[in-house]
Amino acid sequence: MNRMLVFAIAAAGLFPFPLIRAQQPSAGIVPEIFGLPPAARAAAAAIDGERIRAHVRFLSLDLLEGRGPGKRGAELAAEYIATQFALEGVEPAGDNGTYFQKVPLVAVHTVEDKTKFTLVPATGQPIDLAYGTEIVSKDQTGQETADFEAPIIFVGYGIHAPEYHWNDYAGPDGKEIDLKGKIALVIVNEPPSNDPNFFKGNALTYYGRWTYKYEEAAGRGAVGVLVIHRTDLASYGWDVVRNSQAVEKSYLEGDPSATLRAAAWIQHDVAQRLFTLAGLGDLDKAIDLAGEPGAFHAIELPVRLRAHIESRVRRYVSSNVVGRVTGASPAEQAVVYTAHYDHLGIDPDAKGDNIYNGAADNGTGCGILLEMARSFAQSTVRPPHAVYFAAVTAEEQGLLGSQFLGMHPPIPAGHIALDLNFDMLLPVGIPRSVSLGGADRIDFWPTVQRLAHAFDLTLEPDPEPGAGHYYRSDHFSLARVGVPAFSVDQGDLFEGRTPEWGKQQVEDYEEHHYHQPSDEYRADWDFRGNAKLARFGFVLGWLASEQPKSVEWLPGDEFEVARRASRTH
Ligand SMILES: [Zn+2]
Repeated sequence: MNRMLVFAIAAAGLFPFPLIRAQQPSAGIVPEIFGLPPAARAAAAAIDGERIRAHVRFLSLDLLEGRGPGKRGAELAAEYIATQFALEGVEPAGDNGTYFQKVPLVAVHTVEDKTKFTLVPATGQPIDLAYGTEIVSKDQTGQETADFEAPIIFVGYGIHAPEYHWNDYAGPDGKEIDLKGKIALVIVNEPPSNDPNFFKGNALTYYGRWTYKYEEAAGRGAVGVLVIHRTDLASYGWDVVRNSQAVEKSYLEGDPSATLRAAAWIQHDVAQRLFTLAGLGDLDKAIDLAGEPGAFHAIELPVRLRAHIESRVRRYVSSNVVGRVTGASPAEQAVVYTAHYDHLGIDPDAKGDNIYNGAADNGTGCGILLEMARSFAQSTVRPPHAVYFAAVTAEEQGLLGSQFLGMHPPIPAGHIALDLNFDMLLPVGIPRSVSLGGADRIDFWPTVQRLAHAFDLTLEPDPEPGAGHYYRSDHFSLARVGVPAFSVDQGDLFEGRTPEWGKQQVEDYEEHHYHQPSDEYRADWDFRGNAKLARFGFVLGWLASEQPKSVEWLPGDEFEVARRASRTH
């Protein structure tokens, strides 16, 4: 029978629910895998797409008000997830014997008409910048006012990467320039390269992300950072920068890597004006030069930045929900599963439907997380080592819940073998391909490949290596504290469909529903695919836990240093 017809009849109340369940012919299949005990295989096979459906439906109800962190809806979602953990037999692994890990947050909104930035040249007239069209900024410290005047240092791409013998903070004399109390002027992105051994060729490394530049300069004591926007280098226009800064932005309270009084972007033409004022000539030529090895050194401009910044500040607390299934052996080598449960909340100013339900983003990841947790907890054979399940908050605010989890993991980060993250898995069919960006950077990769093959999943390469997707999802928060980590995402290939169809589904979702109030639960969604990915994730985690030694980054990887640091306390 046609699936749509079944749903239509079921919706009309003629058939009871179990008949829909019977529509899962291939759903229970878990391949036989070396290293996976039969009882664990049975536990994985018990993962049920209809249970994932029930979680997604509940979490995306209007009643949950879009699960905005710090708001009632997100608290209800967190309580729901904790309750499910308890019902499933998952132990609490949050604060003080609870399922909850409190995450203190501070939301900052720059008051545009009271904030003023001025370029002050050594000689000549100061130039006021127009807030919004020329500059946007956030005070990361969560204080309501800031006043300062500080020298501006042009630091090229603002990158210090010893593995590429690259240091933009070295001055004309080769010594590192002192940034304390100063403003770093930086170019967005990273030195252009086609050489895979130099900033990974076309792929974007973390050094190219503006977040890295803020953190690096903040670590050097800078009071502010001006990121120069150029559309081609940023891969998005000024309006995107401006709009994303027009709303409040949250930070972790007391985050030692977020101490800038002015985390700012300036528009390209303004940067050119600043260059002219400083007698440095053509900005684009300087950008070209800054990308050539050995051609650049940091330089102090004869121009200062004067700032008066006013912010509206709101402090609030949200929670990560953390559970654990104890392993057979107490030794190190835990596996962590993550999925964010927060979404965008309610937009009080919007007309019509103003609830951002976040059904696909990320009700689906939560449903998968809960089903994996249940299967581990109810498996008749224990996993070799402990397995943790973390539904994290404030992802949409900049991966903040997972950042807090990485800074305060339930066991030391050096003891975690692997983090697998699930985010936004459109339930439109049974996937025959997956995209596992970053999995090829760890020594577990051969097992990942073998398992994908056994699950009839083709491995799709990252379609946009230059976009830096790896640094935009929660697994990155674990990677930066050294934990081998990646997200399980589906590709374009689905059973009985053409690749074009799969691509079309994703494009349609991104255009019409992604981060919109219409990302709502649909009764015609097919959760067999989510179940398949949950089983795949279950077995991946089991095998990582079962290995004779912990999963590690491949030698030379950018996170290897963090991994080593996590083990030298
Ligand atoms: Zn998401």
